[in-house]
Amino acid sequence: MERKVRVRFAPSPTGPLHIGGVRTALYNYLFAKQHGGDLIFRIEDTDSNRFVPGAEEYIIESFKWLGINFDEGVSFGGDHGPYRQSERKDIYKKYVQVLLDADKAYIAFDTPEELDAKRAEIENFQYDASTRLMMRNSLVMSKEEVDQLINDGHQYVVRIKIEPGRDVVVHDIIRGDVSINSSVLDDKVLYKSADQLPTYHLANIVDDHLMEVTHVIRGEEWLPSAPLHVLLYEAFGWQDTMPQFAHLPLLLKPVGNGKLSKRDGDKLGFPVFPLEWHDPKSGETSSGYREKGYLPEALVNFLALLGWNPGNDQEVMSLDEMVKLFDLSKCSKAGARFDYVKGIWFNHQYLLNKPAKDWTPEFDALLKTNGIESTPEKEAQVVEMMKTKVIEYVDKENNKKKRNISFVSDLWPLCKFFFVAPDSFNKDDKFIRKNWNEETAGMMRQLVDILSNVDDFTIENQKAAVDPWAEQTGLRPWNAWRVALVGAGQGPDMYELSAFLGKQETIKRINFAITSLSCE
Ligand code: GLU
Repeated sequence: MERKVRVRFAPSPTGPLHIGGVRTALYNYLFAKQHGGDLIFRIEDTDSNRFVPGAEEYIIESFKWLGINFDEGVSFGGDHGPYRQSERKDIYKKYVQVLLDADKAYIAFDTPEELDAKRAEIENFQYDASTRLMMRNSLVMSKEEVDQLINDGHQYVVRIKIEPGRDVVVHDIIRGDVSINSSVLDDKVLYKSADQLPTYHLANIVDDHLMEVTHVIRGEEWLPSAPLHVLLYEAFGWQDTMPQFAHLPLLLKPVGNGKLSKRDGDKLGFPVFPLEWHDPKSGETSSGYREKGYLPEALVNFLALLGWNPGNDQEVMSLDEMVKLFDLSKCSKAGARFDYVKGIWFNHQYLLNKPAKDWTPEFDALLKTNGIESTPEKEAQVVEMMKTKVIEYVDKENNKKKRNISFVSDLWPLCKFFFVAPDSFNKDDKFIRKNWNEETAGMMRQLVDILSNVDDFTIENQKAAVDPWAEQTGLRPWNAWRVALVGAGQGPDMYELSAFLGKQETIKRINFAITSLSCE
C-alpha cells in the first residue's frame, strides 16, 4: 500500500538554528507539499547537557517568519505526539526492552575508567563483536549477576549488538546505494541508566517509526549514522516501513574549503542565522537575516537553490513554484557554495517587486532613527523615485563597491535631501566645482523667477515653463539645480524632486545655494 508521505524536521535545541538547518527544513517542506504529505516538527532534546533555553522558541519563531509551515509537531499539535523527545521517555524505555528481549541489544556495566583503560591497552579499540566478550556486560554474565548489579544501583548502558561481517546498504535518494561493512561499526550506546534517556540514535528511529515517517531528508553530516539506523530498523523488525533516506549536500564556505561556519559570516559580514540570537550564557549577539533587512521570501528562494536547481536558469521562484518544480533526486551530491552576495541579489529582486507602500513601515522607522518625521505618502514617493538607484559602499575588506539598492536601509543616507535641505556646500566636491561657476548664480536667479510663476507645481507645469527658456537661451540649469536641492551629484530627476519638495522649499534651497556658493 502507498503510504502517505510524512517527513520531519528534528532539530536539537542546542542554540540558534543554523542557516543549513533552514535549508534542510525547506527541502522537507517542498517535498511534503509536493506529495500532499505532512511535515512534522520534532524536538530532539534527549541530550540535556546541550540544552539551551530559548532555542526551541527561536526555531519556531524563525519558521513563522520564513513562512515555512508545519502540519504537526511541537506547538502545532497532531495525533502522533508528544513531539518533544524529553516527554517520550517511557516510550523509549519500552523499546529498549524490546531490543533486549530479542537479543539485539545488551546491557553493559563498563565504567568510563574501564573503557579508557581498554582504549589505552588496545589500539583503535572499538566496542564490537571482536572485543565485547572481554568486557563487563550481560553477554558474559548470568542473568542473576546482571540483576544484582542493577539492584545494587550500578549504572549501565544498553548497546546495540551488531553482527559483524555483512554489508549494510543505505539506499539514498541523492547518493544512490551507500554500502558499509558492519564490522567497522561499533556497538553504539542506545540508552543510559544514569539519566534514563535514550541516545539520539534510538530516539530518532523509534520516533520516525511511530510517527510514520516515510522519508528522512537531512544534512550530509548524518550520513555516517545511517548504517546504524538501518540496522536498528532491522533489529526492531521494521524494515518494511523503513523510511527512504536523502542526505543533502553540505553548505560550503563562500571562499576556500570546508563547511560554512559562523566565523565566515562574521568575517565577510553576513548572518548565518535566520533571526538575531542572544546567547543566554555568553551574552553574545549574533546577527540574523530578519534584522539585517532580508525579506523571508528572498531568503527562502536563495536557500532553495543551494543544492538544487530546476534544470533551467530560472532563479526567482515563489514557494508554490518551488513546490511544483522541486526534485529531491536531482539534488547535488557535491557541497553547495554559500554565495552570500547572491543572497543580497535575491533580496534586491524581491524588494523591487514590492510596491512602495510595503517599504514604508521600515523606511519610516529608518527615518525616525535619523530624526525625521514624514508621512507614508511622501515616503512611498521617495521609494518610487529611488528604488532603482545604485549605492556605493565599502565592504569588510575595505574595497569600494557599488550595488543596487538591496535593503530598505540602503535608502539612508541616499534619501536624506528629500527631508533635510543642504546646510552647506562642499566646494571641493567635484560635482559642485564642475557645475557651479561665476555665471551660475545669474542663471539660477532666472530659474527662480520662472519657477515662482508656476502656480500648480507639478512636473508637467515646471517643464512647460523651464524647458522653452532653456531651449531659447541655451542655458542648462539642471546640474546646478541639483547642487542646490541635493548638495551633491545624486538624486532623481530635478522636476520630480522639485515637485516633491514643493515650490516654496525648492525656491528656498536655490536661493540658499546662490548666497552660499556665490559670496567668494
Ligand atoms: N536531531 C538531529 C539534528 O539536530 C536530527 C538528525 C536527523 O534528522 O535525523 O539535526
